[in-house]
Amino acid sequence: MKITRITVYQLDMPLTEPYCLSGGRLKFEKLDSTFVRIDTDEGISGWGEGCPWGHTYLPAHGPGIRAGIETLAPALIGLDPRSLDHVNRVMDVQLPGHPYVKSPIDMACWDILGKTTGLPLWQLLGGPVAAPVLVNSSVSTGSPEEMLSQITSAAQKGYTVHSAKIGGTDTGLDIDRIEAISEGIPKGHKVTFDVNRAWQPAVAVEVLNSVRARDWVEQPCETLDQCAHVAARVTNPVMLDECLHTFSDHLQAWKHGACEGVKVKPNRVGGLTKARQIRDFGVCAGWQMHIEDVGGSALSDTAAIHLAASTPEANRLASWLCHYHLDVDPVPGQGARNNHGVAVPPSQPGLGVTPEDGTLGDPVAVYGG
Ligand code: MG
Repeated sequence: MKITRITVYQLDMPLTEPYCLSGGRLKFEKLDSTFVRIDTDEGISGWGEGCPWGHTYLPAHGPGIRAGIETLAPALIGLDPRSLDHVNRVMDVQLPGHPYVKSPIDMACWDILGKTTGLPLWQLLGGPVAAPVLVNSSVSTGSPEEMLSQITSAAQKGYTVHSAKIGGTDTGLDIDRIEAISEGIPKGHKVTFDVNRAWQPAVAVEVLNSVRARDWVEQPCETLDQCAHVAARVTNPVMLDECLHTFSDHLQAWKHGACEGVKVKPNRVGGLTKARQIRDFGVCAGWQMHIEDVGGSALSDTAAIHLAASTPEANRLASWLCHYHLDVDPVPGQGARNNHGVAVPPSQPGLGVTPEDGTLGDPVAVYGG
């Protein structure tokens, strides 16, 4: 089997309402998503999506995906898409770094492997069943009362796990947010306080040693070294996210005792192939993980849910579904959806999500014949 054509689509996806992170310094209103269809000489096609949330969130941006695919495409045409490690090695030789460019290509190749073998991705990624995965809500930065009100409405939709975005310049307000939310969430619910790298290490140590809450804290500072410094001086379990891009970063996090868990996001690390390697390392290390994508429609959400569902329950906390924040749905009714706080991956061969003709508009680029 050979890749014969790569077709690229671009879609602007407005959020239903503006979303703030990192104490409000990062604001998002629309996402730039790239959809990729890979065709083969055997008539089987696969789909992938890459969406780096917004260009201020990570060293990644929507137009960069399209430019990177233009660079990679000549080396990909003619490869067997089922040889996923080889496809990834070719991409890494042709374009070192730039993991977010490679994720939609890798995802489409996994879809083809699934369709060829007749197996769903959750099984190809090692899972025994289409396990239901807990879905967490995502609570935008606001006053303690506003954030608790968002959690209350999320709880009414069935969510039992919440990610609350904090990390402002007002240390006292962050302490108030943490205490109010930790005490005010419904009994049995869990919350992670996601700082999105906003604190200096001294602020993180001060805040976390001031609060009574012992909930998870995510990405307190910018760098891995800063987060490791904090992790050694607080008793909250630490989750890392934005500072992890390569397998080596995860190895360093483990060596430095920088965390008890990580966010595994295919678009941040280069696709499902590399996310699976990191997931497997995390299982060996005893980490607890949130497995979800950086952003995107139900297509990329579903790819991540396949990986989450195939992960041992002890190592899996919850997954966020980006598509609930979007004002558009290019794959209506398809894929993993929130059903009272859980999502189940599809069980048809491959990814189980296929955009219908016309929903993505005209291609912005076509490579190959
Ligand atoms: Mg995060």
